[in-house]
Parts: sequence; C-alpha cells; structure tokens
Amino acid sequence: MTHNHLFSAIRAAVPALDKPLAFLADGQAETYGDALALSARLANLLKARGVKPGDRVAVQVEKSWPALALYLAAIRAGAVYLPLNTAYTLNEVEYFLSDAEPAVFVCRPEIEAEARALATRLGVACVETLAADGTGSLTQGAADLSDTFEDAARGPEDLGGILYTSGTTGRAKGAMLTHDNLLSNALTLRDCWRFTADDVLLHALPLFHTHGLFVASNIVLLAGASMVFRSKFDPKEATALMSAGKVTSLMSVPTFYTRLLDQPGLTREATAGMRLFISGSAPLLAETHRAFQERTGHAILERYGMTETGMNTSNPYDGARIAGTVGFPLPQVEVRVTDPETGRVLPADEIGMVEVKGPNVFKGYWRMPEKTASEFRDGFFITGDLGKIDPAGYVHIVGRGKDLVITGGFNVYPKEVEGEIDAIPGVVESAVIGVPHPDFGEGVTAVVVTAPDAVLTEDAIHRALESRLAKFKQPKRVFFVGELPRNTMGKVQKNVLRETYKDIYRNVA
Ligand code: AMP
Repeated sequence: MTHNHLFSAIRAAVPALDKPLAFLADGQAETYGDALALSARLANLLKARGVKPGDRVAVQVEKSWPALALYLAAIRAGAVYLPLNTAYTLNEVEYFLSDAEPAVFVCRPEIEAEARALATRLGVACVETLAADGTGSLTQGAADLSDTFEDAARGPEDLGGILYTSGTTGRAKGAMLTHDNLLSNALTLRDCWRFTADDVLLHALPLFHTHGLFVASNIVLLAGASMVFRSKFDPKEATALMSAGKVTSLMSVPTFYTRLLDQPGLTREATAGMRLFISGSAPLLAETHRAFQERTGHAILERYGMTETGMNTSNPYDGARIAGTVGFPLPQVEVRVTDPETGRVLPADEIGMVEVKGPNVFKGYWRMPEKTASEFRDGFFITGDLGKIDPAGYVHIVGRGKDLVITGGFNVYPKEVEGEIDAIPGVVESAVIGVPHPDFGEGVTAVVVTAPDAVLTEDAIHRALESRLAKFKQPKRVFFVGELPRNTMGKVQKNVLRETYKDIYRNVA
C-alpha cells in the first residue's frame, strides 16, 4: 500500500472497524469502518472529477458527518483541503477561489446557482453540493462508487491543508499546512493530553477552523477514540451528556465555558466522569477558570495556538494549570519573546513579540513568498501576539500586537487594564481598545459588560481604577454594552469596537 503521511497514521490507529467514531445528533453512530468506506467513496469521486495530488479542494459547507469524511477523502486523494467559514459571503468566496484555484468547490445547495456562475467565471472545473443533512450531489455521486481507495502517496512536506486566516488587516492569507505539520502536532497533543481509545470527546466546534478540524478531529482519530459530534454547542445538552457519563472530554473556546457556567446543572457530580476540559482559540478569563474550578473541581487546561502553527503551548496535564497563562511550549516547539523593533531576545517576564519554531509551524502563505519571508526571523515565525514567559516557564499572552495601545508615547497592554476592570464587582467582562485621540495619538477606551443587577457608572469605573493603574493606562472613556462583539471562535472583535468608537475623542482638543 502506498504511504500517505497523515492518512497512513490515521489508518494505523483504527482501533476496530466496528468501533463508533462519531455519535450523531439523530442517534446514529458512525464507526471507524464507516469513516474508511465513506472517505474512500468520496476520494473515488474526487478522483473521477479530475482531482490530482496537490490540487485544492475548496469546501464551504455546514458541519456534518460527510463533511468530516470529505476532509479525510481529500487527504487520501492527495489533495489540499481548503475549508471555508460558512459565514463568508459570495464576494469573499470569490477571492478565495480565485486565489487558491481549486479543482473542485463543494458548497451548500442553497448557493449552488451562484457558485456555479462563479466557478465558470473563475475556471473552477467542478462544483458539488453538500447539505447539512448530508444530502447533495457529492454524497449522491459517491454512493455507488467503491468503498476502497488506493491512497495517494504523500510525504511529510506535502500540503494537506490551506486555511485562510481571519485577516483583520489586508488580504486574507492562505496558511499552507503540510502533512507533517498536522500529524506531528496531533500526535504531540494526543500524548500530552493523554487521549486514548477510552475517550469520548464532545466535538461541538466548527470544521472550517484549525481547532475543530485539525486539533479535535485528528486527535480523536489518532487516539482511536470516539466523539459526540454536534454541529452547534448546546450548553444544556453538554451538561446532560456529562452527567449521563456519555463524554469524557471537551475541547472548547472560552465562550462555551461561560455558557456552561450559566447552567444550574453544572455541578461537581455532573462532571465527575469528565477527564479533561480544554480551552483555546481566545483568552480564557482567569475569572472563568476560577469559577469553573470552584463549581466543578476541574481546572480547565488552556492552550495556545493559531492557524499558521497549530498548537504551540499547553498547560500541563499533571502539574499546575495556571489561570491566565497558556502553559509551556509543547515538546519540540521553541517559544521565545523578542523586542518587536530590534528582534533581541528578551529575558523572563519582559513583554514582547511571541515567536515560535517547530515541526508544527506552517510552510508559508499561499503564493505570498515575500509576506512569508517577512514573518519569519531566524527560522522563528513571528506570531503577532504579545506575551511574556514567566520565571517558572509559563507563557502568558497579553494581546495581539495590533491591539497594543500607544497613548502619549506609552505602551498600554489591553489585557492588563481589562484584568483590573474585570476585578471590579459587577463587571462581567471588558475590552480595552485604542482609538484616535488628538492629544495622545490614541486614547485608552474601555467597553464594559456588567452583570444584570449591577449599577455601575463610568465614574465608578474611573474611581475604582484610580489607585490600581498608572494614569496613562486608565481609560479616558468607559462605555457599557450588553455584550461584546465576537466571531464564531469566541474572539472579541476589537476591530469592530475600534470602528464603533473611532470618533469619540474627535472634539476633545
Ligand atoms: P486563529 O488563527 O483563528 O486560531 O487565531 C489565533 C490567535 O488566537 C492567536 O494568534 C492568539 O491571538 C489567539 N489565541 C489562541 N489561543 C489563545 C489563548 N489560549 N489565549 C490567548 N489568545 C489565544
């Protein structure tokens, strides 16, 4: 049999053909054997549609079992899997298709007509459809094809996926991930987080993002584990699954945890059968970590990663999982903190640019060699995140470089100010941004969410911060909102806030 770096490892990890891989919402269980058969049929279809090794397969569909099998099929066919957020508009999809030039575009049936017109215009040879319920031309066309497939030969350096990064500034960039980026990271995480065939993961993350696609799915497959596979996270159902002993582990974005904490049923007893709670993709508030531990006895394990690198650091499985930190560099991953201007490596506890190196780090941005070169320094990828490494070796992320506020020549790290605001009784959470200010360049500005029964005024926030933060770090204005704008991965959209409040200091001079 040919060697396909990622898929051969997945195949070798199959525990038994009749073992359930995914428990679906309709009560059905799909086994490892089903995954092999369906991915083979889909790989045969891709091949019949002209997909050759190295070709891109672009996919913008709802999460479903066949969508997961399609990812495996693309890997087996030697193709480069290119998932797209279902929230992208046709206009955005046009950019991705013209940039990536896929051989096939699999879309939701609802946009088939527009997708076909787009494909014709851009020279994409084939369009298939896949609906949330698994029907569509893709599964229909594959139904009668063979359920075995000769996997395409692929080496460690061959591309397995391209994921476009959120791209808050400039054009979205396609991060090229190799078979070995994906495999080495998933094996490392499987071992660090002790996933085994006894695990049942609650998988409620989207499949178009690195977290749900590569971290969650690949780990489960490589551990021979099972998952409860859901298209959306329902905190009530999640609590019920935990207390019924149906799941052993959860991979989440921080918002899942705040939503779980709203569930009265979330108790020590209900979570007694849980082995591990993991959080990532956005900062987990230290407060949430503490509240969760108080309520359930479980210390959430927070880790840090990104599209371009997979996972870089993780709090320890054994040992202290420290709230507000993202733990230690994973085995074989080097993390350093540098002066953003000079590139000088900084000593412990100093804040600077987080840079990473290791087998997890991507091959570069698709068709952007200059951009790629400018984001590496001595083999380290410059993440764009600001952080520090404390004397005990724990990495702390203090924000994105672009979120740094520079006011009157002073650097203000939003996370420090947010931490102080969040500690004020009655505050649920906050976001601190810099917006144009005629005197200071940028004015520190806080956007605050309060508890329903709290009576907090702008003045009260100012007073509470007076003795806690240097004057230049204190927000010049405080605004109250019902909730912070977030994207699907739970990240606060600071660019949206900066836009909303961009004119507030216009007339202060
Ligand atoms: P993405 O490429 O969408 O996965 O976003 C990656 C970015 O999410 C990172 O560069 C960080 O800014 C942020 N991020 C991911 N995990 C964490 C974490 N545990 N704490 C703070 N920020 C995080």
